[in-house]
Amino acid sequence: MVHGEPRLTLRVARVMSPVTVLGPGRRVVLWVQGCGIGCPGCASVDTWDPDGGTRLDVVALVGQIGDLIGRDGLDGLTITGGEPTDQGEPLHELVTLLRARRPDLDVLVFTGRTHRVAARRAPRLLEATDCVVAGPYRRDLPPNGPLVASANQTVHLRSGAARERYAALLEDSLAPGLQVCVEDGEILLVGLPRAGDLDRFEAGLAAAGVRLEGVTWRP
Ligand code: SF4
Repeated sequence: MVHGEPRLTLRVARVMSPVTVLGPGRRVVLWVQGCGIGCPGCASVDTWDPDGGTRLDVVALVGQIGDLIGRDGLDGLTITGGEPTDQGEPLHELVTLLRARRPDLDVLVFTGRTHRVAARRAPRLLEATDCVVAGPYRRDLPPNGPLVASANQTVHLRSGAARERYAALLEDSLAPGLQVCVEDGEILLVGLPRAGDLDRFEAGLAAAGVRLEGVTWRP
């Protein structure tokens, strides 16, 4: 940001830490708000509305995320959504300011666009990213390792450090994991669910007498 320009803002769905299922190590995850791609079977339908979530000042968000990184001893930041490349400039600013505090911070971006289109829409964000998982979610295709929810998606390691950091994770043939969190009275299922996982989760809770309200995977 150039001195005198208005401060950048970002529309955010939620921030959570520590998360261990969306990238290597312990991470803070930022779900941005707004996605017009509309993949059938998307687990985050609640992040589609571009006017939903909360509009936050990027500098204030850097303070919040920076504090979480210090408090929880985190290795990286994962940006997902919503569609990160729709908010490429404020996200680039966020990553730049966080790296000024923590130069070795690993940054992973999940985009529903192909890598080529994402790089055209948000070039500076992608240049500042260590790893990009690109492509729309296809519920008719199986997952492919811990970071790929459907086999059409591609993984792009953009730095030498990232190639080392992600090597063990990408060699793992396990399906993506899920992490259950409880926060402010809400149950949050974090990760990349396989097709049918969310329905099974809901049915299992219903069998135990727990009825879910306001789930994120239905409008
Ligand atoms: S899976 Fe990602 S890209 Fe696809 S609709 Fe959901 S948030 Fe958007």
